[in-house]
Amino acid sequence: MKRALILASALFAGCMQATPPPGPVETPRPDPLPGTRLSVDQLKSQMFHVSAGKRLKATWPNGARVAVGLSFDVDNATATLSTGNLDYEVLSRGEYGAVDGLPRLLRMLDRQQVPASFFIPAASAVLHPKVISDIQAAKLSHEIGGHGWIHERLPLLNDEKEEQRLLDLSIETLTKMTGKRPVGYRAPSWKFSGWTMGQVKAAGFLYDSSLMASDDAYEILLDGTPTGVVELPIERILDDAPYFGGNADGSNPSVGDVYEVFQSEFDVAYEEGGLFLLTMHPHMMGHRSRTAMLEKLVQYIKGKPGVWFATHEQIANHVKPLIAAQ
Ligand SMILES: [Zn+2]
Repeated sequence: MKRALILASALFAGCMQATPPPGPVETPRPDPLPGTRLSVDQLKSQMFHVSAGKRLKATWPNGARVAVGLSFDVDNATATLSTGNLDYEVLSRGEYGAVDGLPRLLRMLDRQQVPASFFIPAASAVLHPKVISDIQAAKLSHEIGGHGWIHERLPLLNDEKEEQRLLDLSIETLTKMTGKRPVGYRAPSWKFSGWTMGQVKAAGFLYDSSLMASDDAYEILLDGTPTGVVELPIERILDDAPYFGGNADGSNPSVGDVYEVFQSEFDVAYEEGGLFLLTMHPHMMGHRSRTAMLEKLVQYIKGKPGVWFATHEQIANHVKPLIAAQ
C-alpha cells in the first residue's frame, strides 16, 4: 500500500513537471523545419524545380494598354466529390454552378460581349454535360481549358502514375466533349505535385495558369530549364474563392468590398500597361448580386480606352513569340 502511494505521488510529480506554462501550443510534425538543414544547393533545387523564367511583357493588339482575361473554374461539386464527402448541402452548393451560376454568367458575358476562359474538371463536364453545351451555345467564342479529372488535389494524390492517368483521362474526355483538345491547363486548387509541370509540358499545353510569381506572363522553368510553356499568372486577391468560398462562408457579405479590390487592381494594371486576369467560379460568382457586381466591373473596364478583352488562349498565343525573341 505504502509502495503504491509512493509510486502514485512520483507519477503525479512527473505530471506536474510536464505541464507547460500557459500559451499557444502547436503539435509538432515529425520534422517541422526540414528547410533549416538544407545546403544552398539543396534549397536551390527545391526553390527552382518550378520557377519563373523570362518575363513576357507584351504590347497588346491595336495599341491596347491592358489585356483583360476573365476565367471561370467550373468545379461545381467535384472538389467535394473527390474527397468522398457526400454532404448534399455542400454538393448542392457546388451544383448551383451548373444549374444557375454558369447560365447567369454566360448571359452577362453575352450582354457585355466579352469572351472568357472556362477551366473544367472533366468529371464536372461528364456529370453536367450542359455546362459544355451552354458555353458552346454562346455567340461569343469562349475557351475551354483543363482543370484535372475530379479536381484531385495533386500533392494529396502524391502518385506519379495515377496523376498521369487522370491528366490523360481529363484531356481525352474534354477533347471528346468539346471537339477540341484543350491548350490551357489550370491545376485543381492551383496545386502542383513534384510531377505536374513535367506532365503538363509533355502533354503539349500552350500555357498554364496556376502560378503567381509575377504580374506579367512568363515562361515557366522546370529545374532551371526553359519549358516553352507560358504562365498566365493567377493571384489569390484576384480570385473570388477567398472572398466568397467555403472558408469565407458568409463572413464577407459585401460584394462592394470585392468590387473595390478588383477595380483597384485593374486600375494599376491599366496604368502599368499590364495584364489583368481574374479567377472565378460559377458556383460562387454566379450568384445574383455577385454577377451584378462583375457586370459593373466589366462595364467600368469597358469605359476605359484601349482595353483588350481576350481569352487566356488568345493572350498566351500573343505573348508566346516573346519566348523566342532576343
Ligand atoms: Zn478549381
